[in-house]
Amino acid sequence: MTIGVLALQGSVVEHLKLIQSVNKKINAVPVRTADEINAVDGLIIPGGESTTLRILIDGAKLFNVIKSRIDAGMPVWGTCAGLILLASRIEGERPYLSAIDVDVKRNAYGRQIDSFVTEGDFGGMYIGMVFIRAPKITRVGERVQVLSALDNDPVAVRQNNVLATAFHPEMMPRDNRVHKYFVGMVEETGAKIY
Ligand code: GLN
Repeated sequence: MTIGVLALQGSVVEHLKLIQSVNKKINAVPVRTADEINAVDGLIIPGGESTTLRILIDGAKLFNVIKSRIDAGMPVWGTCAGLILLASRIEGERPYLSAIDVDVKRNAYGRQIDSFVTEGDFGGMYIGMVFIRAPKITRVGERVQVLSALDNDPVAVRQNNVLATAFHPEMMPRDNRVHKYFVGMVEETGAKIY
């Protein structure tokens, strides 16, 4: 099994380490080109800054390969800025990948200085959640499963092969349970860990 982390900007190394900690035999790799993206069984779009990420993805001509692989069923997980890029609607902006039926409002949890850590349920597990200028999910479509909520707002959502979190599990270096969940999604597609 090969899991790629889109390595144009943002928390790449943190994600790679946690995927690797789930199982040493997983090939966890940074990806920057269409060929590299075509070679992965699952893709993580990390946090960072979504406007910058859009520009970098467009500049590297990676939009079509990412979009077509997601449409073909490859598991993808967006954290924070990654969630924004996956959302079907972004308040005040054109949507980007439109891969999960949710609306988001950018920076709705406040500025950098308002960043916070809290705890909450993720699909039955109690985990730490780091919020950094996070988007708020303001609507979820019928086919979207809410895995976590904070004060009644969804903060982790899944629709088939698409997982998105408003918070940053990669910032909890000793807790790989959300990464394990994503590895499980990749295993569901038949990818094997040897
Ligand atoms: N505020 C950023 C954006 O709107 C996301 C922040 C993050 O990924 N930590 O793109």
